[in-house]
Amino acid sequence: MTRTFMSGNEAAARGAYEAGVVFGAAYPGTPSTEVLENLAKYEGVKAQWAVNEKVALEEAIGAAIGGGRALAAMKHVGMNVAADPLFTSSYIGVKGGLVIINADDPGMHSSQNEQDNRHYARAAKLPMLEPSDSQETKEFVRLAFDLSERFDTPVIVRMTTRVSHSKGIVDIGDRVEKPVGGFVRDIPKYVMLPGYARGRHVIVEERMKSLFALSNKSQWNQIRCNNRSIGIISSGVAYLYTLEVAPEASYLKLGFINPLPLDLVRQFVGEVETVVVIEELDPIIEEQVRALGIQVIGKQDLGLPLCGEFSPETIWHALQAKFPQIVRDKPKTDVPTPKYEDLPPRPPVMCPGCSHRVVLHALKKQKVTIMGDIGCYTLGAQPPLGAMDSCLCMGASVGMAFGIEKVSGKGKTVAALGDSTFIHGGITGLIDIVYNKGATLVIILDNCTTAMTGRQEHPATGRTLQGDATHALNFEALARAVGVRDAHTVNPTDFDLLEETIKRCLETDEPSVIVAKRPCVLIPGQEKLPAYSMNQEKCNQCGACIRLGCPAIIQLGQNKEKSFFIDAFFCQGCGLCEHVCKFDAIEVKS
Ligand code: SF4
Ligand code: SF4
Repeated sequence: MTRTFMSGNEAAARGAYEAGVVFGAAYPGTPSTEVLENLAKYEGVKAQWAVNEKVALEEAIGAAIGGGRALAAMKHVGMNVAADPLFTSSYIGVKGGLVIINADDPGMHSSQNEQDNRHYARAAKLPMLEPSDSQETKEFVRLAFDLSERFDTPVIVRMTTRVSHSKGIVDIGDRVEKPVGGFVRDIPKYVMLPGYARGRHVIVEERMKSLFALSNKSQWNQIRCNNRSIGIISSGVAYLYTLEVAPEASYLKLGFINPLPLDLVRQFVGEVETVVVIEELDPIIEEQVRALGIQVIGKQDLGLPLCGEFSPETIWHALQAKFPQIVRDKPKTDVPTPKYEDLPPRPPVMCPGCSHRVVLHALKKQKVTIMGDIGCYTLGAQPPLGAMDSCLCMGASVGMAFGIEKVSGKGKTVAALGDSTFIHGGITGLIDIVYNKGATLVIILDNCTTAMTGRQEHPATGRTLQGDATHALNFEALARAVGVRDAHTVNPTDFDLLEETIKRCLETDEPSVIVAKRPCVLIPGQEKLPAYSMNQEKCNQCGACIRLGCPAIIQLGQNKEKSFFIDAFFCQGCGLCEHVCKFDAIEVKS
């Protein structure tokens, strides 16, 4: 057996590979993106980016009922998009195993909300496994395929950012080839007309009873008795943190978390004096244990927050206050804690030369309300640019801008969203604008990649996940095809043309689309434009350039002592600062 060092996401891909998975689909989303990127590296697996999580899951369901083992991966909010097929996939079941990797993001490192997707497993009546580290992730994913086929159900493996992104040693096994069985027509099983669905619902409920029995006997749920005065029920990375803080306590370590092994819980409760539940985000285990009539020390009693990510320190503080006799010394890290007050603040910003900055600046000049979306450009909401007024979920900008137009009139609100985001969830909103005779301006910030998650391909880049050439979606042609006559493609660094096009589109009485197309500055192989510099003699310190928020423009000093300069190393030569300087103080560096 080989051992290697893997992140949770790499381990999830490895587990699927070893299980003989033949198909995988996903839409990129932190923290789950690398699951599919790693799966794509294995021979014998057809992996592909889907336009969104719903399509990814539908493709995986198709592959599974076609008799192949299939995987779909998504971040927690992606599960919202995929919820429609998710719920009914529970009814139709599988043929080849189907595993859904779901990665929650406690602490919202890269997300717009902090939902706890364990709720989905309960609501959709699907089994859910929750690994604590990379080794468990690989094993859980591998065995989840067996579980899926044995019980004719999709299985969700729930990860969190910390499990997805931290690395641990993993034992590597061999791949087990699973022949693809092929689709077999079975109308009552696969056609969810109400008459058939009613029968399938009964099967789902019966299956949950069988899964409940299995969960109680599962090797993934383990009682580890030690000091019996305190018994802690926990799962995921919270279990590892708690074990580090209180190794002498007794534990019920849960890995099979839906359905919860309530008989095992009762057994554990009988073996310890005081029962404590420690879990990140919502008190889902706690509430189910309380519903058995068992007294537990839970989140509120321990002062553990509903919001944010745990750390060993969080749990140490909570247990120290209530059970000082079982906690070890406060966890120490080997990394010295920096004195943050000594460091300059470094909030995330758009890159120097980013074309999104150009478009947002042009929109700000028009004093319009900007319905924004999910992507790098969301950073434009922050000062000094301050050019975005909303960000809800993937593609929502289009419908929201139309909604505002419905109540406030045309010409004051625009939708601005990225290329990948438009394909994911914006196109349907645009069709709706045309259908309902709107006149909204939709700006597609086309930087030719899915930039925010690490530059993944999408249907308009002309490349597949593997980098093979494919058809490239033409946004302007697509807009025209759905009925937008006023559609334009503009290079945003043609500043005057961009501003003029925006002004014209805001004045028309019909829907407009502007495709602001310029590749992301981080896409390799692009020609580096000459850097700009500041002529200090001409500069009158008006600050118009620094308000663009370009990280290459630096201010030294304050008030009358202030001065500006451009860091030539970072400058990408986009020329926006030269465009805004009214004193001709910015020029191409000689
Ligand atoms: S916009 Fe021009 S004049 Fe104003 S601070 Fe920048 S370089 Fe100086
Ligand atoms: S030209 Fe100006 S705005 Fe563009 S990257 Fe360089 S410093 Fe930034």
